Amino acid sequence: MTNMKSLAGTDAGTGAGVVVVGGGQAGFSVVSALRGAGYDGPVTVFADEHHLPYQRPPLSKKAHTDPDGMGVTLVPESFYRERNIGLRLGDGVAAVDTTARVVVTGTGERVPYEHLVLATGARNRPLPVPGAELDGVHALRSIDDALAIGQALTTARDVVVVGGGFIGLELAQVARARGARVTVVELADRLLSRAVSPQLQEHLRERHERTGVRIVTGTAVRAIEGEGRVRRVVTDDGSLPADLVVYGIGAVPRDELARAAGLAVDDGVIVDEQLRSVTDPRISAVGDCARHPHPHADGVVRLESVQNATDQGALVARRIAGSPGPYESLPWFWSDQGDIKLQIAGLRTDTDEVRVLPGDSPERLAAYAFRDERLVAVETLNWPAEHLAARRLLERRTPVSPADLTGSTLGALARARRAAEVRA
Ligand SMILES: Cc1cc2nc3c(=O)[nH]c(=O)nc-3n(C[C@H](O)[C@H](O)[C@H](O)COP(=O)(O)OP(=O)(O)OC[C@H]3O[C@@H](n4cnc5c(N)ncnc54)[C@H](O)[C@@H]3O)c2cc1C
Repeated sequence: MTNMKSLAGTDAGTGAGVVVVGGGQAGFSVVSALRGAGYDGPVTVFADEHHLPYQRPPLSKKAHTDPDGMGVTLVPESFYRERNIGLRLGDGVAAVDTTARVVVTGTGERVPYEHLVLATGARNRPLPVPGAELDGVHALRSIDDALAIGQALTTARDVVVVGGGFIGLELAQVARARGARVTVVELADRLLSRAVSPQLQEHLRERHERTGVRIVTGTAVRAIEGEGRVRRVVTDDGSLPADLVVYGIGAVPRDELARAAGLAVDDGVIVDEQLRSVTDPRISAVGDCARHPHPHADGVVRLESVQNATDQGALVARRIAGSPGPYESLPWFWSDQGDIKLQIAGLRTDTDEVRVLPGDSPERLAAYAFRDERLVAVETLNWPAEHLAARRLLERRTPVSPADLTGSTLGALARARRAAEVRA
């Protein structure tokens, strides 16, 4: 493999210690938490990208044209060297032999493991329409994608965003801030249809439209047209001029390595409450590629968030270092869409009541979701303090009913309950 780069410490990468496949948010969390927890065996991380492990959220929140100024690298190269962590950049793992307990790299090298952690992330769902391969049509996942989109935005006038999910809405605001005419085309009847409550999405839509972004829901993209380069997007509702198309229509877990190795896989590597493969307990899966039981969900979930990747990586590292425990972290998430800050605490599955309440200033708003009269998730717009209060209450499993919110915010409720605890 060309450009393969080994940044190993002195003895990292030898012996059968911990091998991590994937140098993203979750893989980084595993290796840094392993050393933090005192694990002193060999640690090697295989990363098929050529960049030092980096964070993806900033990629969709502004336009990037300068690779050196992106500021997304998680830690400098010296971090790995000083901790004797073998970092194999541009070096993908092609197969896992679970009987011999080795991973096989793209060049055929066989590297033994005692524990294997799969942190392979997810890939973008391809846009299944004619013309998706034209110049000027982009998806966003990597640094290289972000630079290509940033470059295109320096000249684009008509931008069509296909998909009204987090990444699409973030990019719509980035393009709008650059002065482009922006249309978001969403197949579902509303934005963020799986991620936020219907009650909140109307407010979100109105805030996007206020910035001049045009939003078209319940509409399918049929084709992208142009001669070599995109010129227009054809939808069931007519054609839209476009010199840049960005699509974000969801992601699929990169679980093919696990599947080929004979591990149980179903839209993600299936793991138990300690994030061990249900097929082979010497293998764990963390981050976007893992499907796991969760006390905040009814059944198993696969979550795509920095919080989840970070907390799962740390949990597996602690187990390998001798302190096992179940994965119970409260899910939380954020998305910055121009001036709109959306934050979510908890999981809004099977909720039976949602109350939207205004905050103490016009831009603040929160949707509180209840299951069986108990608060399970809170979505906030531009209200970080209420998000943090929600996290504190949900983490402690403090019961909050719809009646508790009459005339009160969670912040006020949390303060009142703390004061009562102190008095008792
Ligand atoms: C543009 C964008 C914006 C986002 N914004 C937010 C946000 O605002 N808030 C939030 O909470 N989350 C956000 N996310 C989601 C968050 O970044 C992911 O949930 C998180 O990165 C998952 O971490 P991970 O390690 O599981 O996967 P990744 O970070 O994707 O890392 C997986 C790595 O494994 C590598 N890999 C895969 N297979 C192999 C192999 N066989 N050999 C070697 N390497 C391999 C991949 O190339 C990749 O580098 C965003 C994601 C994107 C793409």
